[in-house]
Amino acid sequence: MTEKSEGFFDAVIVGAGIAGMYMLYRLRELGLSTRVIEKASDVGGTWYWNRYPGARCDTDTMEYSYSFCEELQQEWEWSTRYPTQPEILHYLNHVADRFDLRPDILFNTQVQSAYFNEGTGHWQVQTENGAEFTAQFLIMATGCLSTPNTPPFDGIDTFTGPIYHTGRWPHKEVDFSGQRVGIIGTGSSGVQSIPVIAQQADQLIVFQRSAQYSVPARNRPVDPELVAEIKADYAGFRARNRLEYAGQLSHIPRNDFSALSVASVERERIYEERWQTGGFPFFGSFNDIMRDQKANETAAEFVRRKIRAVVKDPKVADMLCPTHTIACKRPVLDSNFFETFNQDNVLLVDIHSVPIQEIIPTGLRTADTNYELDTIIIATGFDAMTGTLLKIDIRGRKGLRLQDKWSAGPLNYLGLSISGFPNFFTITGPGSPSVLVNMVVAIEQHVEWVADCIDYMRGNEKKSIESILAAEHEWVDHVNNVAEGTLSPTCNSWYLGANIPGKTRVYMPLHDFPAYVKKCEELVANGYEGFLFSS
Ligand SMILES: Cc1cc2nc3c(=O)[nH]c(=O)nc-3n(C[C@H](O)[C@H](O)[C@H](O)COP(=O)(O)OP(=O)(O)OC[C@H]3O[C@@H](n4cnc5c(N)ncnc54)[C@H](O)[C@@H]3O)c2cc1C
Repeated sequence: MTEKSEGFFDAVIVGAGIAGMYMLYRLRELGLSTRVIEKASDVGGTWYWNRYPGARCDTDTMEYSYSFCEELQQEWEWSTRYPTQPEILHYLNHVADRFDLRPDILFNTQVQSAYFNEGTGHWQVQTENGAEFTAQFLIMATGCLSTPNTPPFDGIDTFTGPIYHTGRWPHKEVDFSGQRVGIIGTGSSGVQSIPVIAQQADQLIVFQRSAQYSVPARNRPVDPELVAEIKADYAGFRARNRLEYAGQLSHIPRNDFSALSVASVERERIYEERWQTGGFPFFGSFNDIMRDQKANETAAEFVRRKIRAVVKDPKVADMLCPTHTIACKRPVLDSNFFETFNQDNVLLVDIHSVPIQEIIPTGLRTADTNYELDTIIIATGFDAMTGTLLKIDIRGRKGLRLQDKWSAGPLNYLGLSISGFPNFFTITGPGSPSVLVNMVVAIEQHVEWVADCIDYMRGNEKKSIESILAAEHEWVDHVNNVAEGTLSPTCNSWYLGANIPGKTRVYMPLHDFPAYVKKCEELVANGYEGFLFSS
């Protein structure tokens, strides 16, 4: 393939999801010539790719949206408490149209490699179809959850029916009527899709490796009074959310007392109240659910009792009851997930005790049974946080490969910058609050920080910026120390890279959004402490 030079841009952004779109908007405001390169055929990122039945956001509608434009947030009307995938995609298309973003986005184009040219001080960005872009700044808005993980099942190519990954769902409706469907995985995507698919399929077999705690979402039409109240002071609502530990839910904040400080009757009352509210507020019932194993166990046992009360067959209920620390994996919300296992057409198979041996032409084989299937759905999540970045061949100074730099885990500063990789930024990179926060809030904070930094550089004749190695080591230690102070590292989660065989086990996201924002602001006030500029 011949290389085609596409010319010079002040900045290249990779990815046109929520992060890439906003980054483009901000850089345009600064007057930078910018090109966004996106693998998909349109905007939306997560919400472009994840079109599986039941796909929706777990963050409340009024919070999961951009805050940067008052008119935008006033004019947009959401329909339900949690927006569906089509509705979020519709919103993001509206944003792209409203701000005329598409002319600067190159779709259907995958970035394959990028290297820093020390001679020119510029990035050379190569795409799969042989085009090359040159830019002063390279900004990776490639997403934390954008590289689907498919376990290497033996025989996967021999299956004669369709195989779908929830993270790469087709753009046409998939009809499961009359079919025997097998779904592998009961993480968030599995939990959302299982009740919907079970309504249609003749038979649904759920292959579960780890049982999940799940809290009812209690989705419902938006409450017009609440919407009016929020819209009367949307800026204030956003500001209050940014002060919350996870950047959200200021109207139902975490109770600031221990689960062990109240009598058991009162504890039950509080859990029950939040269970009825639905959604993430359940995990804020007390302030030590993520800090104290005994407190955690009270929440875990509450959920297990709920599962046993719903699921009629005690053996199935037992299989569905998790034993690990609650909320050390990404909390899951559902609409009738546990109820679905009371349906006659749904079968639960424990693949922890009896693992999948191979996929065969007619279905799937475990150590003791052949399951005949027409369709297989893979709902095994993503190579999270680092997977997408490491798939691209990125080389910094002296040809240093990011794959080598990160061989022992993602060494960087603030989840934003990497020493040896000048003028290179990662939006919601590992080491930042990212997936522990309402991600739109985390994205906006990063995009604004990067835009302000570039603006500062241009105003002060700085040619390049990169973090200092010593600051990175301190930062990664800090992220892990903070995690060690919680129960987060106590189970095999994708936060730790534990879902990918061979991936270095490092806790990647950072707890406590407000503390992180303060740190980002302070280091700027101290002359970009931890960074090195060249003029
Ligand atoms: C099913 C699901 C449910 C979720 N629910 C929530 C929720 O309830 N609340 C919440 O806060 N967050 C949620 N998230 C997280 C969600 O990813 C973020 O909220 C947000 O959409 C991330 O936006 P982004 O722009 O950073 O990344 P993405 O939306 O992932 O966009 C990244 C883009 O980069 C492109 N890209 C990647 N590599 C390349 C390459 N090499 N070349 C060209 N293009 C490339 C991808 O195609 C993609 O379009 C969910 C994620 C999933 C998968």
